[in-house]
Amino acid sequence: MKCRKCGEKASVNMRQHKLALCKDHYLEWIPEQTDRFIKKYQMFSPDERILVAVSGGKDSLSLWDILVRLGFHADGLYIGLGIDGGINYSNESQRLTEEFANQNNLKLHIVEIEREYGLSIPALSMQTQRGLGKPCAVCGLTKRHEMNRIARDLGYDVLATGHNLDDEAAVLFGNTLTWSADYLLRQGPVLPASDGLSRKVKPLCRFYEREMTAYALLRGINYIYEECPHAVGSTSIYYKEILNQIETARPGAKLTFYLRFLEARRSGELFVEPNLEAAHLHPCTNCGQLTSAPDLCTFCRMMEKVKPTPV
Ligand code: SF4
Ligand SMILES: [Zn+2]
Ligand SMILES: [Zn+2]
Repeated sequence: MKCRKCGEKASVNMRQHKLALCKDHYLEWIPEQTDRFIKKYQMFSPDERILVAVSGGKDSLSLWDILVRLGFHADGLYIGLGIDGGINYSNESQRLTEEFANQNNLKLHIVEIEREYGLSIPALSMQTQRGLGKPCAVCGLTKRHEMNRIARDLGYDVLATGHNLDDEAAVLFGNTLTWSADYLLRQGPVLPASDGLSRKVKPLCRFYEREMTAYALLRGINYIYEECPHAVGSTSIYYKEILNQIETARPGAKLTFYLRFLEARRSGELFVEPNLEAAHLHPCTNCGQLTSAPDLCTFCRMMEKVKPTPV
């Protein structure tokens, strides 16, 4: 297989795009495409300040790398969850994130949940109703709250996450199976800013997971290979496996599934856009983030119930 641009031996073959590229041209193609998506979906402009949520994984570190290569002002945010799981998951992912930031001379903000709230994610999960079973519900709620809080407090215009096409297609698949219209309405490459919350963007949402793995490896990015130990057996991994089977039989099916959904939503064929004012969102009386609850948001209500252990 030869690179379409220079005829040298190809390093990456993307069947769904009918495109094979050598290492150098692949490492040019990914940022070019990312830049195209940023403009197409009007994610942000060069004068805006971007906060990239980095976990130490291939997607978020690659996203940070690409945005900096494209010349954007992008700082990182690492949220320390306090997850060990026998593989020292949080320590190792933090170490690799700090290493990346130092090597590239980038600004990294670190928030440790235990230092901030007195309990790690697993401990917080144990102390709440939500902690029955996996800590993922508590973890997801806490990460969203902290990303919003830091972006707002530090005055960033945009919060960028490294969700790739496999992530987005799996979420779309799950929400379609249950016809969760409220979630489907909010899923997309851009979630506009609303009172007190920065705009949220997913610049990698059209890249397959294996494309991001190839980018990270060819760029020499040192990332954490292990998944979070709590991800094992999750529904999203199950959906990804099903979608991978479909993709093997029909290359490009995952991309078509996601892009046709975006198109149908944009054209108004599927849904009526919600009237956010009618949703009666107002600021949480404790943290100020928007909520539909009468006083405290879900995160602050959860934190009221737990008894933090001083650290
Ligand atoms: S898999 Fe791990 S990082 Fe992901 S939500 Fe669950 S606990 Fe958090
Ligand atoms: Zn080439
Ligand atoms: Zn709150």
